[in-house]
Amino acid sequence: MPEPAICLLPLGPVSGEILTSVAAAVGQAFEQPVRTLPPRDLPLSCYDTHRDQYFSTGLLKKILKWSPRDALKVLGITPVDLFIPIMKYLFGEAQVSGKGAIISLFRLRPEFYGLDPDRELYFERIAKEAVHELGHTFGLTHCRDPLCVMNSSCLIGETDCKGTDLCNTCQELFRWTQKKGVKS
Ligand SMILES: [Zn+2]
Ligand SMILES: [Zn+2]
Repeated sequence: MPEPAICLLPLGPVSGEILTSVAAAVGQAFEQPVRTLPPRDLPLSCYDTHRDQYFSTGLLKKILKWSPRDALKVLGITPVDLFIPIMKYLFGEAQVSGKGAIISLFRLRPEFYGLDPDRELYFERIAKEAVHELGHTFGLTHCRDPLCVMNSSCLIGETDCKGTDLCNTCQELFRWTQKKGVKS
């Protein structure tokens, strides 16, 4: 039986390079082993033809269904655009203090905004969104520190303004919830 790990689950085509970089970022942020699961096809049942987007909460449910028993957390990573009914789009969604989270790469590419490709910026955005959504699954809520990765971002400019790391307070909170989890 493999040790409990944060599992990355590609939903649709996601490059190995992206998965490696996300694994490094979340492994460092949460000090847990990380492994990548075999990719899954995007379920058509979550596709909205009118919006040409995938229903994020529906995908999150699938992710939980597909999650291996020993998974500490499961982070779905998908190239498609996500929505929930009250929002035009989402960079990601997570269950606070739960097991599952998802991020979309769709709006993280500089090309989406009509700019030239910028690999460093793209990968940095992916790392921030991955750590942010997984942070929610570890019980962290939005942080007011503008540089903290748990600062909320609805616009790409907000993602770019914040840092890649948890602030000291969020880091302490994370360690505290971890200790509590081990004892109980
Ligand atoms: Zn958030
Ligand atoms: Zn913080």
